[in-house]
Amino acid sequence: MPEHRINIGDVEIIAISDGHLEFEIGDFFPKVPAEAWEPYRSDLTEEGRILLNVGSFVVRSESETVLIDTGLGTGDHGIEHSSSGKLIDDLASKGLTTEGIDLVALTHLHLDHVGWNLTWDDDVYRPTFPNAKYHVPKADWDRFTSRAGMRRFSYIKDQVTPLEPLGILEFIDGRQRITDTLSAWPTPGHTLGHTSFLVSSAAESAIVLGDAAHVPAQAQHVEWSPRPDTDPNLSHASRRELFDWAETETSLIASGHFPKPGFGRLHRIVDERVWRSI
Ligand SMILES: [Zn+2]
Repeated sequence: MPEHRINIGDVEIIAISDGHLEFEIGDFFPKVPAEAWEPYRSDLTEEGRILLNVGSFVVRSESETVLIDTGLGTGDHGIEHSSSGKLIDDLASKGLTTEGIDLVALTHLHLDHVGWNLTWDDDVYRPTFPNAKYHVPKADWDRFTSRAGMRRFSYIKDQVTPLEPLGILEFIDGRQRITDTLSAWPTPGHTLGHTSFLVSSAAESAIVLGDAAHVPAQAQHVEWSPRPDTDPNLSHASRRELFDWAETETSLIASGHFPKPGFGRLHRIVDERVWRSI
């Protein structure tokens, strides 16, 4: 079994899972011809479908414990072939508590990344992580909480907008430092505010991807933009920039949607860049 914990300098990164999602390859990557999947058969399920982990990461330093993304949660999200709602139990099984999270950082506001933000309790919304400030990309906040966004994404009124009156909302606007060891790295395209996170400590680094990529094959094929990407050309450019950097720096990558636990590095084999999980 691959390890679900890894150290980057003095920081520990712990992989957590809320469940999984499954899609037909042609539905998820409509522009990628079926035969292009041949070298990646082993990444697919027996039925030839894409299996996405719904992963979060805890980034723990001496001074702070940060949770990046909060899964699908327990609500009815109406997605077939999925499982969800396991994040809190998985945190507990790894010795972590909801009270111990100092900061929640969200890569973007899609439903599989915000599901445990809030808990409906005694007729009010309470933060599931009671001691945390929630850091949200400003461009996603503006879009998803607009009238059109609220109409299109029904979960926003349950898992996102109540953060504001609770006084626990902080915005991420561009490349900025979140803690001493964690910085926001905007990677727009999947959503317009989509943000990856850079962990740096003692000359080592890791990138928490968010949905800058969904499957390991995108390390080789950065041009493969899946249907959920709002701006496929922009997501392609962001993915290329991020993976070029990670390859040059031999940075660790932590991916919430790659197979669990989602840790790996990029390697160059002849002229091809490939993903190697750890
Ligand atoms: Zn996602």
